[in-house]
Amino acid sequence: MTTKEKRFPLSLASVVEQRINSTNKSATVMAQTAVKNAANHAPLRSTAFFPSKVSSTFPISRDNGKQILSAPPRTEVMVSEKIRQAMVARVAQQGVNDKTVLEALEAIPRHMFIEPGLSSQAYIDASLPIGHHQTISQPYIVARMTEIMRNGKNLQKVLEIGTGCGYQAAVLSLVAKDVFSIERIKALHELAKTNLRPLRIPNIRLHYGDGMLGLPQVAPFDGIILAAAGMEVPHALLLQLAVGGRLIAPVGGRHQALQLIERVGQNEWNSAMLEQCHFVPLHQGIV
Ligand code: SAH
Repeated sequence: MTTKEKRFPLSLASVVEQRINSTNKSATVMAQTAVKNAANHAPLRSTAFFPSKVSSTFPISRDNGKQILSAPPRTEVMVSEKIRQAMVARVAQQGVNDKTVLEALEAIPRHMFIEPGLSSQAYIDASLPIGHHQTISQPYIVARMTEIMRNGKNLQKVLEIGTGCGYQAAVLSLVAKDVFSIERIKALHELAKTNLRPLRIPNIRLHYGDGMLGLPQVAPFDGIILAAAGMEVPHALLLQLAVGGRLIAPVGGRHQALQLIERVGQNEWNSAMLEQCHFVPLHQGIV
């Protein structure tokens, strides 16, 4: 981990007051500005290879508690699988090592979360617009944050703040037993439902609401992941983390970095600033 870890237990106040100036300067810049990213990458294939909705059946079965996506017998899906494998190889080259995470990335058809006009760019390593001034996160950052949160463990309950189009939630559904995801924009909450429906993923629950409040009725969570950047991690979320659990969040304004927070005791949290990143802002309330 390219991090300056604070190993001593921190108080809740010191965790949330920590600012981005403690960022490790040698960290890699992984900006994921949607428009810039999209412009920097030529489409890999014509859109014909990426039907926006591949098949109404993309069943997911369970095997020893692990979910398996069974591939539908459609030629275009086979093509997108090859391209998806190439995307995963690039993510691995960028330093993501967790096999479970890489397998999840390989199993989830990212093109099904992207509007048809952009689906030719589904497997480039870029964030892309999903409407309402929001973006689907870059595959690398989805994988990296999931890897950090997972820390090689089998997770039970995880919470995502910022469902967006539902892609990250789908990836999380393959690394955790139960996934809860909150979105504050009603239209995106509906979009995620529509995108996820054909995948028939049984262990995702989508909530429309303000993710800054978390889901106290479901807490504690083994992992919490934020897909939008605030100036600090909301207190409510720290309190909803299980002891031994990990929260990963982009923090900052113009300059952001990933912050990892581990709850090490009832009243003790450890915090570390990791690599730089660029996310849409975390907002209060619902729209
Ligand atoms: N997880 C998505 C990324 C979505 S972008 C993916 O898989 O690609 C970030 C999302 O966070 C946006 O949809 C935005 O509306 C949402 N968001 C911002 N603040 C929020 C809040 N307080 N509660 C819930 N969602 C929030």
